[in-house]
Amino acid sequence: MIELTGLTKRYGEKVAVNQLTFAVRPGIVTGFLGPNGAGKSTTMRMILGLDHPTAGDVRIDGKHYDQLKDPMRYIGALLDAKAVHGGRSAYHHLLCLAQANGIPSRRVHEVLDTVGLTAVARKKAKGFSLGMGQRLGIAGALLGDPRILMFDEPVNGLDPEGIHWIRTLMKTLAAQGRTVFVSSHLMSEMALTADHLVVIGQGRLLADLSMADFIARNSRSCVRIRTPQRERLLDVLHGAGLTVVETGSGAFEVDAAKPERIGELAAQHQIVLHELSTQQASLEEAFMRLTAESVEYHAHSDSAAGQQWGDGWRKD
Ligand code: ADP
Ligand code: MG
Repeated sequence: MIELTGLTKRYGEKVAVNQLTFAVRPGIVTGFLGPNGAGKSTTMRMILGLDHPTAGDVRIDGKHYDQLKDPMRYIGALLDAKAVHGGRSAYHHLLCLAQANGIPSRRVHEVLDTVGLTAVARKKAKGFSLGMGQRLGIAGALLGDPRILMFDEPVNGLDPEGIHWIRTLMKTLAAQGRTVFVSSHLMSEMALTADHLVVIGQGRLLADLSMADFIARNSRSCVRIRTPQRERLLDVLHGAGLTVVETGSGAFEVDAAKPERIGELAAQHQIVLHELSTQQASLEEAFMRLTAESVEYHAHSDSAAGQQWGDGWRKD
């Protein structure tokens, strides 16, 4: 469990992280979502004690990072994937890490196997692709067999196979009962990985809710229709009390209706349909709306924002 209480970081005038309070629980993948510059990396650095909070507090299983006796056994992190020690082989890089942290060297073989680098373990890391470097970074995070794992934008720059692998790994780690905290600026990525979502914008908490709740609140669907008999169909739909929006491309969208109902209405009136489909509002759009409003809110007063975000989004 990671617990943040009023966590704040200022760099001069800039408030990078602004009074963040939330908890990251074990057994699930918690997605940490926000646009670039929202404060995700700064928050993660403070969790690891690499940056000192201006105000507030962050605890790992009730302790500050520097109070942990064997920190690598508590929490493993992948922060900057490019920070690979070029001259060493993957094996030696991990062995040095293990020795410096009192971790048995057999763990090096285990984690190399977990991340699929056994075959290239003796190769110099500087020759590694981005994906292999990422796997090596993750091997380092797993070395101490920690109960808590934190990954900062782990899929950035990876190919689809690498992205799929990381996604599966995070779910597996969570299923083992570990706490998995992963950041991204892409809603689409979180939708496939995270069980729980913490959304920030401009350093502030915008949402703290389960992925299922986020989807339920944002999965407004509508029915899209195209027909060569526009006027007749419009009359029929209006007659049935439905709200119709013209989308500009010769199609209509009908809110709060099932495609079956519209298909039956069209059949009753012998109207030809060229398209009848259900459209799902994208989660990416919902995320953009949420964070765009955070930017707007910044220009207005705090109290207005307090009301705006009062209870709707901050729900466990
Ligand atoms: P994210 O990881 O969500 O993209 P960051 O935590 O990297 O966001 O940055 C949050 C904000 O804090 C940004 O505006 C960034 O420019 C600023 N920032 C981050 N680190 C520093 C620093 N060392 N000095 C000054 N400003 C910083
Ligand atoms: Mg970042």
